[in-house]
Amino acid sequence: MRIIPIPCLSDNYAYLVVCESSGEAGIVDPSESAPVSACVKKEGVTLKAILNTHHHWDHIGGNKELLREFPGLKVYGHKSDQARIDGLSDGLDTGDKFQLGSLQVGALHNPGHTTGAVSYVIEDCVFTGDTMFAAGCGRLFEGTPANMYASLNKVIGGLPETTRVYFGHEYTENNLRFAQFVEPDNTAVSEKLAQVKKARASGAFTTPSTLGDEWRTNPFMRCESEEIVARVKQEDPANDLQPISVLGVVRRMKDSF
Ligand SMILES: [Zn+2]
Repeated sequence: MRIIPIPCLSDNYAYLVVCESSGEAGIVDPSESAPVSACVKKEGVTLKAILNTHHHWDHIGGNKELLREFPGLKVYGHKSDQARIDGLSDGLDTGDKFQLGSLQVGALHNPGHTTGAVSYVIEDCVFTGDTMFAAGCGRLFEGTPANMYASLNKVIGGLPETTRVYFGHEYTENNLRFAQFVEPDNTAVSEKLAQVKKARASGAFTTPSTLGDEWRTNPFMRCESEEIVARVKQEDPANDLQPISVLGVVRRMKDSF
């Protein structure tokens, strides 16, 4: 398998996933069609499928044009998003699997950012869209703190720590600044922030992360960290300080960071 990140719009990533034995490929979250179709041509692969993680325009914006350019493309997304994802042909839920050439793709339903958010697992990689970012998570537009807690900590968090995490936006540096703000003594955060600043200064992408890195640096997966709990207590003295309530306050703090 080969994975090629394609920067789209101002800070989105689409990912071209190539099965090297068949030359067949799928595109995760084509925000726009032009850079995707240029990459497909450059790589000389056969585009067979669009894998949408959720219905937001900056993740499905290229669907219609790509369907015109590559007739017969399958379009995958959550089964509840039939009316919201252009061209959705195969609605999925947790446990559903499909083939991309010889690669097997598994779906995980992980609501929180939207009700129909899905991550795709291929070999030791997971494509998380706007559910899990490096050191962050998406805003709770349609879900609750309990949804996001379960999606990050149980559903995606149930994968092995070595899993590579391909996320939907280049927000890593700002996310790590926030992680440092809520958990200043976390050395994993300061070390990763230093690496990421260097990478960004040279124009490099910060994708992928690993699930192990996320357990160490992502405040939304560290709701039992004493430092984060103390920070939340300061912010919201009446909080019951259970992990889900902690996530809710940390998310609110991030919204205005
Ligand atoms: Zn989104």
